[in-house]
Amino acid sequence: MSEAPVALVTGAATGIGAACAKRLASEGYRVGLHYRSSVEKAQKLLEELPGSFGLKADLTQEAEVDALIKAIKAGPGRVDVLVNNAGYNVNAPMLTMSLDQYDSVAAVARGTWYLSKMVLRRFMFRRGAGRIINISSVVGHTGNPGQVPYTMVKAGLDAFTKSLSQELTGKDILVNSVAPGFIATDMTEVLPDEIKETIVAKVPQGRMGTAEEVADVVAFLSTRASYINGTVIHVNGGMYGG
Ligand code: NAP
Repeated sequence: MSEAPVALVTGAATGIGAACAKRLASEGYRVGLHYRSSVEKAQKLLEELPGSFGLKADLTQEAEVDALIKAIKAGPGRVDVLVNNAGYNVNAPMLTMSLDQYDSVAAVARGTWYLSKMVLRRFMFRRGAGRIINISSVVGHTGNPGQVPYTMVKAGLDAFTKSLSQELTGKDILVNSVAPGFIATDMTEVLPDEIKETIVAKVPQGRMGTAEEVADVVAFLSTRASYINGTVIHVNGGMYGG
């Protein structure tokens, strides 16, 4: 088993996940860098982060999650921190959104649930210690037009945080959400400029956040927080206070 603690970050090749991976590596973690389609970006980051190892899986496929868990067992043999960062969104009004589009958003939440269950079962529960950090979203609290399934999933992720933290009694396994506001990444880069301007107008700090500002909070919850559990920490420049 690896001497160094291991942080598994999902969707770690891009945006907020990549910032979390870099930050946790700088805090001394071996980073399990999970990715799905961003193969080249993952490869580049793996070269940048000493001790990191790559894990390719589509989280919507149970067999691929099982293979990922097996690879960690055969490799470093531990997961101290799980950052459930991978997420997927389809922007479309309710009336034109198809069931397949709904399923594509919801399937990643199902995969997050299954991965968390397997990480708990195979690694954290036996040691009686661990940190699970779910990257939810401000829109799970405020709602957002054109994102009905995405906001359902993100609100559900915060409920997952609360329920699971209450289930894991008597152990040092803490489960929290970090809910970003509007953060400059590939996910928001695709928005038209006028939408971005409307969004920024709602932020008292007058700008979008950075992935590093989210990663800072994830690092704090991973390495320093010992009595924060079952809660949602908002990182949104003041646009919503919880
Ligand atoms: P991003 O760069 O698009 O990241 C999304 C990540 O999810 C990608 O790395 C992608 O992996 C992974 N992913 C998507 N579907 C997957 C699947 N089926 N299986 C495995 N991995 C999958 O956007 P981001 O802004 O950094 O988003 C990171 C998280 O923050 C998401 O959960 C998002 O909902 C949340 N968030 C973002 C914002 C924002 O303003 N940017 C605000 C609130 C919350 P591959 O690229 O390898 O396929």
